This record gives sequence, structure tokens and C-alpha cells, in this order.
Amino acid sequence: MTDQPTPVYCANHPQTETTLRCNRCEKPICAKCAVLTPTGYRCTDCVRSQQKIFDTTEWYDYITSFVVASFISLVGSRFIPMLGFFSIFLAPLAGVVIAEAVRFVVRRRRSKRLTQLTAFATVLGSLPVLLLTLIPMLALLTQGGFGLLLNVVWQVVYTVMATSTVLYRLGGIRVKT
Ligand SMILES: [Zn+2]
Ligand SMILES: [Zn+2]
Repeated sequence: MTDQPTPVYCANHPQTETTLRCNRCEKPICAKCAVLTPTGYRCTDCVRSQQKIFDTTEWYDYITSFVVASFISLVGSRFIPMLGFFSIFLAPLAGVVIAEAVRFVVRRRRSKRLTQLTAFATVLGSLPVLLLTLIPMLALLTQGGFGLLLNVVWQVVYTVMATSTVLYRLGGIRVKT
């Protein structure tokens, strides 16, 4: 005696009635579980498996990216003590060079983890010069080493700006889950 269609409940929330379905696996999903993608509503499982397809990296990409990013970052940071204020122009440039160089060596393969590793390598690469600036500064600070303090500021500016540029350039597709 069921003339009326049986109510459909969300696959993740058995208490929530819904009319929405994932447009890939047809699983009923409620408004809370649905993720709006460019191709329509999907369940979180489908979104996640879709994201894995975007991970096209090979294991050695992590090594080459790390070496390339930290090396360029190190080379770039060597100029900070000479550039001072003008570091704010060098830093984004360094970030672009790092991002493009990494993209080149990994042949445009990508993953979120690779982006994060490259950003980490950018930070690490900028640290040696920062530390070299920091050590004499600590010794001189008691005698008023203000100029050196500024150098440290620009060094930090370099690290932050180069890294955020790398993250921005390599960021790619982000899907909310
Ligand atoms: Zn699905
Ligand atoms: Zn739900």
C-alpha cells in the first residue's frame, strides 16, 4: 500500500530525510553532506576519490622539488643583506622562480603534499642566511645593532613572502570537504 514514495534518508545521517543524491554514486545525501562541485552535488567520498586523481606525483618528485626549492631559496636569500628594503621585490620573484622551477622539474605533476613540501623547502632554504644574520646580531644587540636588526626583518620578510608566493602559485584545485 505504498502509493507515496518511501522517504529517502541521508547515507551518513539516518535521521535526516533528503531528496538530494550524489550525482556520481547516486547515494542519498543531506544538505550538510553535499559538496557543491563544478559538476553538481557530490558526496564527500566521491570528492575525496576525485581529489586522488589530482595527485599525479611520483615519489622522486618530492626529492627533486625539495632540492630545487631549498637551493633557489638559499641563493635568493643571500641577496637580502644587500637589498634591504628592496627585498620585498625580490621575495615574490623568488617565489615565482621556485614555483616555476619546481613545476618544470616535476613535469607539472602535482599534489597538495608536494606544494606543502615545496613551501617547507623554501622556508628551510632561507634559514641559513637568516641564522648567519641572527648570530652576530645577538652579540651586537647590546651595543645597539639596529641595522642588523633590520636585516633580520628583511630576512623574515623574504621567508614569508617567498613561501606564500610558492603556496599561491602551486595551490591549484582546492575542494572543501
Ligand atoms: Zn558519491
Ligand atoms: Zn547527511
